[in-house]
Amino acid sequence: MSQQHQDLIDRDRKVTFHASSHLRDFAHGDAPGRVITGGQGITIRDKDGREFIDGFAGLYCVNIGYGRTEVAEAIYQQALELSYYHTYVGHSNEPQIALSEKIIDLAGPGMSKVYYGLGGSDANETQLKIVRYYNNVRGLPRKKKVISRLRGYHGSGLATGSLTGLKAFHDQFDLPFEGILHTEAPYYYHRAAEQEGMTEREFSAHCAQKLEEMILAEGPETVAAFIGEPVLGTGGIVPPPEGYWAAIQAVLAKYDVLLIADEVVCGFGRIGADFGSHHYAIQPDLITVAKGLTSAYQPLSGVIVGDRVWQVLEQGTGQYGPIGHGWTYSGHALGCAAALANLEIIEREKLTENARDTGAYLQRAMADAFGDHPIVGDVRGVGMLAALEFSADPEKRAHFDPALKVGPRIAAAALDENLIARAMPQGDILGFAPPLIATRDQVDEIVARARRAVDRVTDALVREGALKAVTAPVA
Ligand code: PLP
Repeated sequence: MSQQHQDLIDRDRKVTFHASSHLRDFAHGDAPGRVITGGQGITIRDKDGREFIDGFAGLYCVNIGYGRTEVAEAIYQQALELSYYHTYVGHSNEPQIALSEKIIDLAGPGMSKVYYGLGGSDANETQLKIVRYYNNVRGLPRKKKVISRLRGYHGSGLATGSLTGLKAFHDQFDLPFEGILHTEAPYYYHRAAEQEGMTEREFSAHCAQKLEEMILAEGPETVAAFIGEPVLGTGGIVPPPEGYWAAIQAVLAKYDVLLIADEVVCGFGRIGADFGSHHYAIQPDLITVAKGLTSAYQPLSGVIVGDRVWQVLEQGTGQYGPIGHGWTYSGHALGCAAALANLEIIEREKLTENARDTGAYLQRAMADAFGDHPIVGDVRGVGMLAALEFSADPEKRAHFDPALKVGPRIAAAALDENLIARAMPQGDILGFAPPLIATRDQVDEIVARARRAVDRVTDALVREGALKAVTAPVA
């Protein structure tokens, strides 16, 4: 590493508090740092000019790839014309209006209005307030609980961190809040390991039954909403088992429970449809979007409100006056301009179709490379989302000893191959979410680098005697 790069990292250690990092180790120089200085296409570059394929599109958000001048110009032009004016009490800006029209059009029938924020967490915070407001207006003040799923990810604020169903986001923060509950994750791979012979459909019915039992135990008159990602993301990149969403929606309809689709990852093409909800025939009352909305060229999120909820919100303000909710930067002109330019590129370059077609290629390439690998228990994904779940004994779906840190070691080995893939926070899972512009050749390169990384760690595990089950030589 160059002295210049090292100096920058040392300055950073003194003054910056990094997300999801080991604070002490980073501050004291015991955990690595890196300064990213550039990006083009699916590649990013660090201060030393070292290039990495970004196999996770930032945090599954840079869908159109890096360095798109068209978006930069749209932001620049908008900044010259009007950088910002607030959107309280009916003030608007032209990009916001055009963007809302575009989003409503993409979201499809039944969707009515868009409210903007800056990130997925604040958007889900808005969702929780809408849900409370909705049932207060309907005269159902006890109907306030929200059910999320174990392994769901919905943000890391206090309320949204409560929705998130991952232990690391609760421990030491006294979360989850009262009134936020977690039901079973639609994680067929894990469940099937315990329940020999259970089909995907049976497992979906089981998940729906668990949800229904929870609603009945709490009292349906106290349960307001259910929130879920069409495909579990940060919790392990887990596509739902067959029939899952139909079974869940039937239960929600039975007990008058709203459905919030958290499309922060799936929205705008990631799994080969405009929304994950379209892919899985989900009919949400409310939708959360962020990430792919601007491909991260500006921070922007949105809450899309369906007609059924909107009617009640309108009625509420008729009763109580203006709604007590707002962010300074809601509908920020630069964010909306970036989003419009981004969505224009997605449409013109048919990136949603590419996510479907090249995504199918990615799934096949992953299955070919890892389907019978001695430490890979599951190869899964949909569109441009994929995951490898590692196992000490794939036959038995046995987990590795967490102390071995197999997931992070493989992510580090991938980095040595100049490939960024993400060690997901719970379990030994390596996630992939390349930009939607990725070509088949680039997919081949991602898979080849990943294979070398997995093989190298496998060899090391064998040498350490941590992998007694492996008898076949690793190619
Ligand atoms: N919802 C989902 C499904 C996410 O994946 C994320 C972030 O990864 C969020 C919400 C939170 O978004 P943010 O980090 O922008 O607050």
